[in-house]
Amino acid sequence: MIPYSTQTIFNSDIKGVNKVLKSKWLTQGPLVNKFENRLSKIVKSKYSVAVNSGTSALHISCLALGLKPGDILWTVPNTFVASANCGLLVGGKVDFVDININSFNIDTNLLEKKLIQAKEKNKLPKVLVTVHFGGQPTEQDVIWRLSKKFKFKILEDASHALGAFYKKEPVGSCKWSDITVFSFHPVKTITTCEGGAATTNNLELYNKLRIFSNHGITKKKQFFKIKTNNSWHYEQHELGLNYRMSEISASLGITQLQNLKRFVILRNKVAKLYYKKLKADFIQLPVISKYCISSFHLFVIKIIGQSEDYHRKFFNFLRKKKINVNVHYIPVHLQPYYRKLGFKENLFKNSEKHATSSISIPIFPSLKKKEMFKIIKLINNYSN
Ligand SMILES: *Cc1c(COP(=O)(O)O)cnc(C)c1O
Repeated sequence: MIPYSTQTIFNSDIKGVNKVLKSKWLTQGPLVNKFENRLSKIVKSKYSVAVNSGTSALHISCLALGLKPGDILWTVPNTFVASANCGLLVGGKVDFVDININSFNIDTNLLEKKLIQAKEKNKLPKVLVTVHFGGQPTEQDVIWRLSKKFKFKILEDASHALGAFYKKEPVGSCKWSDITVFSFHPVKTITTCEGGAATTNNLELYNKLRIFSNHGITKKKQFFKIKTNNSWHYEQHELGLNYRMSEISASLGITQLQNLKRFVILRNKVAKLYYKKLKADFIQLPVISKYCISSFHLFVIKIIGQSEDYHRKFFNFLRKKKINVNVHYIPVHLQPYYRKLGFKENLFKNSEKHATSSISIPIFPSLKKKEMFKIIKLINNYSN
């Protein structure tokens, strides 16, 4: 099976991890901090907090942004469930804004319309989670202007988009958001096995992210509420969690980051070949805005002018030929858990149509030319 994405591990990664295993620190050592600094430098953010998954990063971001029971979080249906679940985890209410049929990202016109309606009903969101689908950044500057007008916070779910740029700005710089979250799951641009991070330029948010990722505890004297000279003193200020990243993961993160540019270039090279060679008339290739450099976490082809059945058969055909294609994503609002909350079909038609017409074909740095040509041939020669 050729996977749709997978990690690329070099000797430098293995050497680094080996060294950690022989060192004093497996957790709470110096490498997490080093990884955070490197990440911040690359994405041009003031602060980073590394944690044990992208999902954890989304959760503590909602906590840090002050999303409280009853508060509203919006995101898109065309995402992994975690982008929405983080709102429910803190007791919030979740609603969705549909995607644009070309970018597969949040449709900013629909967003504005929904905001105007929500304002009239006094139901504005406190947080909007934007998702850079497949590695293509959303129109973050447009959304930023809307956030100032309608007074909501922006949390970028950039799980797909480490190494991507929007209007020359690296994703993660938080120029047009409050917090950006990354995932380092093996299918993403870099991996730490399981892992994630949140970046921000806001010191207050940074301190909260840090505290929530570590049981709500602070060891910093300047924050203490109790006067003491005890050198062992620490204080719990929030109800936090243990979402800390291990030293092993941080080491992987450091060596993987050294290859980030290379990974993004290699993913773009795969995409370039697909753009050049995929000629089947029943598919549409991804549309990347001229303002974006995509990290190409996914390469999603859309089946056009065909039935859902055609899509299903084509999908099964590729799987049978040992191409581990996937559908990104089953719309979150159609998951049984969300249906229980009252969501149903036809609420977000673009996302629903997307789910029954798109297929993610393999794209990752170590994908071989031979494999690419096999995939291209299978698609170009397909006849139902
Ligand atoms: C992968 C992913 C996550 C979750 O990241 P984990 O590190 O697996 O917890 C969240 N949102 C999106 C869009 C993702 O693709």
